[in-house]
Amino acid sequence: MNNIYQLKRDTLSSNFSGKDHYDMIIIGAGLSGLASGLMWMKNTTGMKTLIIEKNSYPGGYSTAYVKEGYVFETTQLFPDIVDILEYLEIDLPLKRYEKNFMRRLVVDGDHVDEYKIPAGSENFTRYLTETFPADAEKIRALMEYSVDLFKQVRKLKANATLKDTLATPFRAPKVIANLNRTYSGLLDKFRITDKKLREVMETFTSFSGVPSDRASAILATGAMLSSMTRCFRPYGFFDEYPAKLAEKFQSLGAEIRFNAEVEKIEVKDGVVSGVKVKGDNTMIRGDRVITTVDPMLAMRQLVGDEHLPEKYIQKLENTIMSPSSVNVALGLDDKIDMTKLDLDYPYNVVSTGLGTAEKLFNAFLAGNHGFSKDCFHAAVICPSLTTGAKNTITIRSTPWAMDGWKELRERDYEKYRAEKEKWADFLIDIAEKYFIPDLKKYIVVKEISTPATYARFSGSPTGSIYDIASLVTQFGPKRLPMKTPIRNLYQPKFAHGLYGTMMGGVQVVDLILDRKFNNGNSLFIPEKAAKVSS
Ligand SMILES: Cc1cc2nc3c(=O)[nH]c(=O)nc-3n(C[C@H](O)[C@H](O)[C@H](O)COP(=O)(O)OP(=O)(O)OC[C@H]3O[C@@H](n4cnc5c(N)ncnc54)[C@H](O)[C@@H]3O)c2cc1C
Repeated sequence: MNNIYQLKRDTLSSNFSGKDHYDMIIIGAGLSGLASGLMWMKNTTGMKTLIIEKNSYPGGYSTAYVKEGYVFETTQLFPDIVDILEYLEIDLPLKRYEKNFMRRLVVDGDHVDEYKIPAGSENFTRYLTETFPADAEKIRALMEYSVDLFKQVRKLKANATLKDTLATPFRAPKVIANLNRTYSGLLDKFRITDKKLREVMETFTSFSGVPSDRASAILATGAMLSSMTRCFRPYGFFDEYPAKLAEKFQSLGAEIRFNAEVEKIEVKDGVVSGVKVKGDNTMIRGDRVITTVDPMLAMRQLVGDEHLPEKYIQKLENTIMSPSSVNVALGLDDKIDMTKLDLDYPYNVVSTGLGTAEKLFNAFLAGNHGFSKDCFHAAVICPSLTTGAKNTITIRSTPWAMDGWKELRERDYEKYRAEKEKWADFLIDIAEKYFIPDLKKYIVVKEISTPATYARFSGSPTGSIYDIASLVTQFGPKRLPMKTPIRNLYQPKFAHGLYGTMMGGVQVVDLILDRKFNNGNSLFIPEKAAKVSS
């Protein structure tokens, strides 16, 4: 079948001029790379700037592709990035989910509890107090505290001076109090013991594949409040978002080189000196380099341990990257009327009950997976309800480890395919049982992604899909810093998701420009537009 959709990502091409020296080189044209590049171009003048990307289009994990006349998307929603897009003068028509945030099913044998979580923290509080009246007071107290905690997080400085650090206990006491607290610790603090209520609250940690007894309370609270209060997706396909950023970047005079894989970050006397692209004879020199690829790839392979202090290597070794995923994207025929199925939520989530996230995460840490018909967590997303394109759904499951997926794919493709099909059937059965009756009858196209797919696509050795895992043990000051031990080499890779990646771009450029652009803020407040020249 012919492709009837022209994706915006395919209209872009390299504009690499072939210079052998740049003021700034960025590795990766995913959203971190594009955000960093654009913030840099907006706040400097005359800087020769280059993004190097191994794929033939921008977007990294946030993209869309066409298969047999269906458009499939990877990502599905983002919290508030409207101010950033305005600042960058990017016009992206957005659908805002104002009423519903999530349809959540919790399965216990034959019994299923259903929750329809509304958007907005006040609506959510009301909904919870009505659903769990016996715990109304505790819920109100928790939500009030959470809103306040989130306000204090917004006062933090990402690029903190000593003065900022000393002021933090006064400016943000709740942040200090929660730095080492897990999300389940926060629920305990408010004596939330009702099993069903905990199941609902823990939704906000388990959707990134992390159990609440390991997730940072601050990050989970931030994820909950930011995504449920201002939650968007483009009306068009998801590739349009990075494509517009890339187009803007090129229009500002900067260059992108597609189909070019960096195989070495060059270091001389502890200072970054450039990068070497696979197949090139010489390196491209760079005064500064920002890497936006998986830190294990960037630091252990592209830089190499020989350039890194032992303490940093240790920190990398102890860093747990977020899990990978098995994902099934389906193109459905037009006999199904998706609008009748109550699926137009950013997420439709089904899982087995309390303890599921812990079991799945422990299996992931052990290097495999814990999915079975008695233990699962899956999200069903329906992009075509917004885009109006031919019917598509995505069934996403996480956490999965790389396990033997990569090896199997290379060694025995038929066996790999059989294994993929097995797990796709498992996920399709779940979606059919809980969300879309007779789903199998309507399937025209099936696309299955495994940890090996994600590894191949992004370069992440473990196929990690959400950057560094949002565990309390590697949050805040304990995370990998943006400044690496190599002078002038920066790595804004610490917070998962599209909002986090855009903010990574803001913060790293602010760091490089000595806070002249965003005043060190963790939030986006570009109060001092710098214009630093080369
Ligand atoms: C299936 C899926 C669904 C998701 N859904 C959501 C969602 O709904 N909402 C949300 O907020 N987040 C979501 N995420 C997470 C989000 O997509 C990522 O956090 C974000 O896109 C990461 O952007 P990035 O630029 O940091 O990294 P990446 O997107 O990984 O970009 C890195 C880029 O570097 C390139 N690269 C790698 N190695 C090299 C090399 N050696 N040389 C040159 N280039 C290289 C890669 O090709 C890639 O383009 C999802 C992720 C996945 C995988």
